[in-house]
Amino acid sequence: MLITRRRLMATASAALAATSLPRRGWTQTTLTLGETEIITLSDGWLDLPADMIFGPMPQDDLAPVLAQFGIDPTAPLTPPCNLTLLRRGDTLALFDAGSGTQFSPNAGALPEALEAAGIDPFDITHVIFTHGHPDHLWGVLDDFDEPYFANAEHMMGGAEFDYWMDDATVGNIGEARASFAVGAKRRLEVIESGLTRFGDGDEVVPGVAAVLTAGHTPGHMAFLIGDGADTAMVLGDAIGNDHVAFARPAWLSGSDQDAGAAAATRMALFDRITADDVTIVGFHLGQGGIGKVEARTEGYGFVPMT
Ligand SMILES: [Zn+2]
Repeated sequence: MLITRRRLMATASAALAATSLPRRGWTQTTLTLGETEIITLSDGWLDLPADMIFGPMPQDDLAPVLAQFGIDPTAPLTPPCNLTLLRRGDTLALFDAGSGTQFSPNAGALPEALEAAGIDPFDITHVIFTHGHPDHLWGVLDDFDEPYFANAEHMMGGAEFDYWMDDATVGNIGEARASFAVGAKRRLEVIESGLTRFGDGDEVVPGVAAVLTAGHTPGHMAFLIGDGADTAMVLGDAIGNDHVAFARPAWLSGSDQDAGAAAATRMALFDRITADDVTIVGFHLGQGGIGKVEARTEGYGFVPMT
């Protein structure tokens, strides 16, 4: 067994922690595709100003859409964060690593969700990133700045990795996201030596193919999981919420770094997902994030599995 400082600390304080720490809320949703098991675990949620998503949208048309979903545009948004685990044979792959403890007060609950699901982080074989934003990447290191999933192979799309490692990114990403760039580079430097880069269409683990879905970030990747006729797609943030992104996929969203490219990607994905009846697994979609897409008179609707 690999000994890390975190494991020594955890062993020493386990008895105390078990009795003194309140358990945070978590959810778990499971989908089985042939021999592949897909599980989503909650990392908690983010607290965002609503404007961060809705700012660029046509405000007069937006109001009735938000009303339909019961969203108050003057209140903060609290999008859930779902981490996806894939178990097949000897593979126990985690898509994204969560927020960790340094990004957002109500996110970073993955360690407790894993424990509740009976999964040891040391048993994770692969950590496969959709993109380098903090809620997806920053949980990759523990509080000692060592890899949290110490035995895992870390994998990221080559274009995405290069973007966050580029010294120029912090200067051109914009003030609102400058801390994202600093935080990503610092963490990627720690895991860089063992990191595997992949490209569009590559098989990252058996039965799982990368799908370039650029726009939210320059090298964002989704993942198509195929098992016979049944397929599922881990979307990351290519479809970033279960309300406006579905109801009006063409609208530009403030959460996407290249909003035009992201809208084009989103619409192409909806076409593909509905044509092939793909089950979707979304990082910020509600009720565990696993479900189907239904075409509506205008736009689409999310039909959660649970
Ligand atoms: Zn995200």
